[in-house]
Amino acid sequence: MKIYNSLTDKLEEFKPIKEGKITMYVCGPTVYNYVHIGNMRPVITFDMVYHYFKYLGYEVTYASNFTDVNPKIIAAAKELKMTEREVADKFIDAYLEDLKNYNCSNIEARPRVINYMDDIFNFIAKLIDKGYAYVNDGDVYFRVSKIKDYGILSNQDINDLIAGSRIEIDEKKENPLDFALWRKTTDGEQFESPWSKGIPGWHTECVVMINKLFGEKIDIHAGGVDLKFPHHENEIAQSIALNDNYIANYWMHNGHININNEKMSKSLGNFVLARDFIKEHSANEIKLVFFSTHYRLPINLTDKTFEDAKAIDNKIALALKQANLILNINNLHDIDKNIKDSTFEEYMDNDFNTPNVITYLLDLVKQLNQKLRNKDYDILITVSKILQITNILGLVYDMPKLTQEQIDIYNKWNEARENKDYEKADYYRSILIEQKIL
Ligand SMILES: [Zn+2]
Repeated sequence: MKIYNSLTDKLEEFKPIKEGKITMYVCGPTVYNYVHIGNMRPVITFDMVYHYFKYLGYEVTYASNFTDVNPKIIAAAKELKMTEREVADKFIDAYLEDLKNYNCSNIEARPRVINYMDDIFNFIAKLIDKGYAYVNDGDVYFRVSKIKDYGILSNQDINDLIAGSRIEIDEKKENPLDFALWRKTTDGEQFESPWSKGIPGWHTECVVMINKLFGEKIDIHAGGVDLKFPHHENEIAQSIALNDNYIANYWMHNGHININNEKMSKSLGNFVLARDFIKEHSANEIKLVFFSTHYRLPINLTDKTFEDAKAIDNKIALALKQANLILNINNLHDIDKNIKDSTFEEYMDNDFNTPNVITYLLDLVKQLNQKLRNKDYDILITVSKILQITNILGLVYDMPKLTQEQIDIYNKWNEARENKDYEKADYYRSILIEQKIL
């Protein structure tokens, strides 16, 4: 399969470090507030990637962190009159609740920075020892000039970066591009380090958690495109310094989200929380909107994109509902959960081309509808394929097993229709509709 590697800007043949196994890490939220809809794109995208790897038979270890030690959390704690830990716990719970409402996977590895403080101290100490970091008045900075590949991910030349640097000049830094590994702080939550009381830098937190969980290198490191610079670039710089690698063999970045052609921002007032969005649109609709655009491209959310997604969702749901009825009546319950589909694989193997997958999915639905119309009930394979694909995309469709009583009512409805007993037919039909069978 081919994956677009942001590190090399090329479509590359995917080869895991260890055969049959995949390690992946996706930068998670800083838990100082409820997440917005933009934060859901990497979650939904890499959930699909994770499920597809599992479908291919890989053993996948997927980690996504909580940034729970951060200046934003200290600021939120002050504002909310809570401790930093209370703030982090509150928004971690809220995030997990959001994931549940969006039908996203409950992956096991969710490291929290707070549990890695000693590892962070050791990591920074090593960087200082090797001359890649320096201490100034309790702060520790990374010496960017020592990394000749700096800018490799975001395709920027280090000299251009310095020249065009809008980064505010900090008296404590040797070079405006140098970034803080440790910062001395005077208020809020502080940790006692060898250099001062303070908190670690965000870019260090992620590298340390990856190294601790997986070792020096992983297969895939992913996140939103906005994290490329400086966050991911700075993660790479530290990994080059200590481990002589780019942390991951493949870097994947999802595109951002616009709302009605405008960038989502607090000042424009179009900043939508994930938890509010799900009140207006179903999880299936949101995912269908996301997957109708390739994950690397920006998505523009409009009323039209949601109308289209809703129509697709209804089409799939209706076909599956009718198929479920037929399968139940004919006592066919053997949905093949391990079914393979080469057309689906062809699209997915091409850097997760989900827009093509959705077109193909609709094709399968059309085939299913045709069979149902022709009373050709050899539908198990088609239904299995539709369910396999929708599962990997994280779409949820119910296929409830009907009771004998429900099947009897269905048969009575058909009988009444054949006998042109419309009153009876209407009666049975209303029961079937009430029970969501029709
Ligand atoms: Zn990160």
